[in-house]
Amino acid sequence: MAAALTVRGIIGGLPVDDDPDAMFLVLDPSSGLPLAEVPVCSKATVGRAVDEARRAFSQWSETTPLERDVLLNQLADAMYDKREELAELEARNVGKPLGGALEEMDICAATLRYFGGAGRTIEGKAAGEYARGRTSMIRRDPIGVVGQITPWNYPLLMAVWKIGPALAAGNTVVLKPSELTPLTTVRMAELAGEILPPGVLNVVTGDGETTGDAIVSNPQVRMVCLTGDVATGRTIAARGAATIKRVHLELGGKAPVIVFDDADLQALTATLRVAAYMNAGQDCTAATRIIVADERHDELLSKLRPEVEQIAIGGPFDSSASEMGPLISADQRQRVSGLLERAVASGAELVSGGGSPDRPGFFLEPTIVADLDQSSEIVQREVFGPVVTVQRFSDEAQALAWANGVDYGLAASVWSRDIGRCLRMARGLQFGAVWLNDHGTLVDEMPHGGFKQSGYGKDLSPYSIEDYTVVKHVMASIE
Ligand code: NAD
Repeated sequence: MAAALTVRGIIGGLPVDDDPDAMFLVLDPSSGLPLAEVPVCSKATVGRAVDEARRAFSQWSETTPLERDVLLNQLADAMYDKREELAELEARNVGKPLGGALEEMDICAATLRYFGGAGRTIEGKAAGEYARGRTSMIRRDPIGVVGQITPWNYPLLMAVWKIGPALAAGNTVVLKPSELTPLTTVRMAELAGEILPPGVLNVVTGDGETTGDAIVSNPQVRMVCLTGDVATGRTIAARGAATIKRVHLELGGKAPVIVFDDADLQALTATLRVAAYMNAGQDCTAATRIIVADERHDELLSKLRPEVEQIAIGGPFDSSASEMGPLISADQRQRVSGLLERAVASGAELVSGGGSPDRPGFFLEPTIVADLDQSSEIVQREVFGPVVTVQRFSDEAQALAWANGVDYGLAASVWSRDIGRCLRMARGLQFGAVWLNDHGTLVDEMPHGGFKQSGYGKDLSPYSIEDYTVVKHVMASIE
């Protein structure tokens, strides 16, 4: 069936009308049917976007932080006004329940407002005399044209996490949303077209190999930022090296949930219902790896299983009670099912779920797998689906070693009433965020970003704004 809608990116404030090399079909994951088609922007089209962003930079970088704050707040207002339209688009394109998508749109507007204000706090360190007769001062200057590449799990929110600090710091942007979920990002760029000067925010559509690579390899793009897979991060860092680009990578996660013998299992299982299965587990901080004290293992499973079996699966518009939608694509479901099949074939216990419901779309049941070794593929690799693994530990040192014993280092949680033990674990965990008796709560004011192969550079918080500036030393003779 042909898609009803063609969605075009925005360059210099206008819809892209270049003849595309190819078109990409965007599907509704809850039905598998076409939703829209988007052009795959060529290298030449991306080059045009970069030129527009360069032209806009000369004026945008001269605006004051307050002027940028006012405009970012206007964009937040426009997005908030259109929250229902944006939420419906997002829900349809990602398959997520409409209620959750509405909450996400509210967070998008609030986060953009945060960045508008936070941009006004950029400052260099105090001046001083470090050589006789010379005064030094530090400036934090914008970097220039920034290329940004986003994933499909929270398309508009990830775009806001990227454009917020970049624009607030005085940079201009060429952004490519995921080819699977470009709809809300393009709509945001249309709204921005009536607020921001042309060329400040450009959105190009297309796949990674063509359009993404054209951003990464463009010598005029001074920094490239990705939220995506580790393998993509590796490719982008290598390709960006040719032009010595700054690289900012928010990659995958494999969050451990360490449950000690004194943990509040009621609070834990209620948290896991959301933190592990929200967005069908397609979340880089998803609470996927439970590492539980031997003596609480059986009790935890007996509490978690009914909680998980109550999760209502549904399409975005099926019912307001739907908690979990489909996976993003047939490929993603096949990938997750393959990981599950191999785990079970090598001796793991399928405690709950694992099957694909008999309905159209790319749904998968919320799943618990137990009896796993630390070396199992499903413990080591990011699943990015509604799957929780359970391992049992005998002492604190083993729990910490298993938690740290993966390539990822984005987020972790510890569950215990013993504050000393919690803080000891927090010190030892090699993860960018550690929750104590909680999992998954994010705030704009605090940084989000990984250790190890989860990447480098921070999203959110003043740290992300710093990442989008370059430090300059100015020295003056005062003789
Ligand atoms: P992906 O890496 O396949 O794609 C991400 C983006 O990169 C897409 O826009 C894609 O088109 C683009 N891309 C792919 N190859 C490229 C190339 N060679 N050059 C330039 N661009 C290229 O990731 P995904 O499947 O869309 O998203 C899921 C991944 O994102 C998971 O691994 C998840 O953990 C990660 N993620 C991380 C965070 C975080 O904050 N750390 C947040 C959300 C998602």
